[in-house]
Amino acid sequence: MTNSTVGGMLPLKVIADADGRDAYALRDYLTRSEVPFLSVSVPTGAREAEGVILTGRRLPLVLFADGLLLEHPTPAQVASALGWVKPPSRSMYDLVIHGAGPAGLSAAVYAASEGLGVAVVERDAVGGQAGFSSLIENYLGFPGGVSGAELAERARRQALSFGAELIVMRYGVDRTFKDHDVRAVLADGSEVHARAALSATGVQWRRLGLDREREWEGAGIYYGAGTSEASACIGLHVYVVGGANSAGQAAMNLAAHAAHVTVLVRGASLSSTMSAYLLNRLAAKSNVTILVHTRVVAVDGDERLREITLDQAGRTKRIPATHLFVCIGGAPNTEWAAPTDVRLDSRGFVLTGVDLRPGDLERWPLTRAPFYLETSVPGIFAAGDVRANSVKRVASAVGEGAMAVTLIHRYLAESG
Ligand SMILES: Cc1cc2nc3c(=O)[nH]c(=O)nc-3n(C[C@H](O)[C@H](O)[C@H](O)COP(=O)(O)OP(=O)(O)OC[C@H]3O[C@@H](n4cnc5c(N)ncnc54)[C@H](O)[C@@H]3O)c2cc1C
Repeated sequence: MTNSTVGGMLPLKVIADADGRDAYALRDYLTRSEVPFLSVSVPTGAREAEGVILTGRRLPLVLFADGLLLEHPTPAQVASALGWVKPPSRSMYDLVIHGAGPAGLSAAVYAASEGLGVAVVERDAVGGQAGFSSLIENYLGFPGGVSGAELAERARRQALSFGAELIVMRYGVDRTFKDHDVRAVLADGSEVHARAALSATGVQWRRLGLDREREWEGAGIYYGAGTSEASACIGLHVYVVGGANSAGQAAMNLAAHAAHVTVLVRGASLSSTMSAYLLNRLAAKSNVTILVHTRVVAVDGDERLREITLDQAGRTKRIPATHLFVCIGGAPNTEWAAPTDVRLDSRGFVLTGVDLRPGDLERWPLTRAPFYLETSVPGIFAAGDVRANSVKRVASAVGEGAMAVTLIHRYLAESG
């Protein structure tokens, strides 16, 4: 939550009742997009807030500085009101990139700076998973760390300054390749054509898979680090599920606000899953407890989450809990690949280069082997977390995005 102006943008107000789950999606989107806003929480039955009559209106409301008022909007409607949702400006590009996480943004910067006509199609907020990170401390050049949202916003501006086009809140559903033409179809039916494509669609947060879990999403259960919710946790005892770096970062961020943070870890320790620097910091926090051999096996509540059930080495116990942050990794965003000849591994990650087996290349039409980041379809490349066997880090996603552009140049040169 912030009420400052950043990048010349005027602040927005998100007016919501305290437990409003729909407001979470808005706060989360605005936080990840580095849009400054003031979060106004109103008591149930309030008739007026911030000069707006609430009677008869469906919360949450988003009030813009110029007086525009959106009632119960989706993040896409807010993005549209911010002027961000635009159709593609041309029908043909050299390169279309799916996904504006670190890999896609890096590829956009390098490709556009090297003179390629580039469009980046992003279904959600710019920044990908990195946008969920409160503080990335191991990315080169930021000794004090950098928030994922800030890193993404800087990369976004850099890509735009070189002439890349960002098409946000658009969902890329299909890519076909014929006669050196990649046809990328968006969910709204519009089409973008390009000479090459890069899939940088990353991974999606995994849910716990519990009965009724979805009932309290945004109303007590949050995926990713829940960065936008940390400041609402003052004085509370909150729970983080997960044993990897994302869980450690979430716990550190929450510990600065909450009275107590309990980290629930399925395994025997964190040492094999979490970086040593994070582990040491967590250990030094007096308001953080780590419970190993512990799984969440049930959730319960009313209009919001009220209780979780833990299984600790076979013994179950129910405890009151209003805030549960789930950071248990993700599954690849590769549903777009199903109707294509792009081959995936058994876990759904995109196979490229040397990882493609002979059976994956039965329809490969060229005499040369696929380039290192090229899929089983010539001209379609993959980079970052979505790629099989990639290192799941910001730096490696950025590196692969840059490397992909070099290989795409080679591909474009040979295809004339
Ligand atoms: C909370 C958290 C903390 C982390 N901390 C660190 C850290 O400290 N250091 C570190 O190195 N790494 C960290 N990571 C991991 C790092 O963020 C990822 O490795 C990195 O973001 C991967 O980048 P990517 O571009 O490959 O994919 P992603 O970041 O996953 O981006 C993929 C993008 O593609 C979009 N997309 C998906 N499908 C489609 C589609 N069909 N059409 C259009 N767009 C689509 C998604 O909306 C998303 O924006 C953290 C991750 C999380 C979640």
